Amino acid sequence: MAWYPIGPSSYPDLFGQMQYVNSPSIASQWLSLTRDYAAKFGQDGDRLTPNEGRRTRARQQELYANYLRTGYPVAAFPYTSRHDEATHGNAIDAGVTTANGHNRALTGDEFAWLHEQCELRGFTWTGRFFITPEPWHIEGDTKPPHFPPYPDINVYNAIIHEEEEDMTPTQAQQLADVARAVGSLQSDMNFIKSELTGSGSDQTRLQETVIGIRALTAGDSRLKEALITIRAIAKKLGIPVKEK
Ligand SMILES: [Zn+2]
Repeated sequence: MAWYPIGPSSYPDLFGQMQYVNSPSIASQWLSLTRDYAAKFGQDGDRLTPNEGRRTRARQQELYANYLRTGYPVAAFPYTSRHDEATHGNAIDAGVTTANGHNRALTGDEFAWLHEQCELRGFTWTGRFFITPEPWHIEGDTKPPHFPPYPDINVYNAIIHEEEEDMTPTQAQQLADVARAVGSLQSDMNFIKSELTGSGSDQTRLQETVIGIRALTAGDSRLKEALITIRAIAKKLGIPVKEK
């Protein structure tokens, strides 16, 4: 299945990770919706952003296990979620990223606007039907849109800021794959950075982090790259790193 980028999340546990949906029409209508939002509510630099689009099965399992354990937040049984990577992938949880990069929920006025405007772009606010209603949960390609996407919206330009008009579908897919890897690497690096900048013994923390990353690197070239990068950073900072 091909996946189409809709911008990175600023939601705490997905911070910096590119989000995806399963159709280019949903992606281009969502990006058009974010432009509609900017015109209406974006005076202070607030942007409509996806808290989450496609959800991996591993993450859904995790969320469901957490729900069984704590009762909150409510999560669908694995494989039945509309965010599911294999069966659906047309759902988006809407959030707002402020000018300083923080995540917040939409206000009441913004939700009311979203629920009307998204319908004009082929989405349905299906979160209203949940047992615990979710004002942020909408699903695309669920009805004929009243408006076409803005003509200059290109789902690939959302992440690679270059004109790529001559791309074949294969090239476009490769580009999306690279962007996905970069988004994921960025979030790995954010995590590593947060591990390194805490208080305590930086040296010990760094060594533990490197050991932890090494344990994860088997078969994952992105994490291997992250490890090389972090070793280079450590060297620059003059922090010794154990080889084994
Ligand atoms: Zn949702």
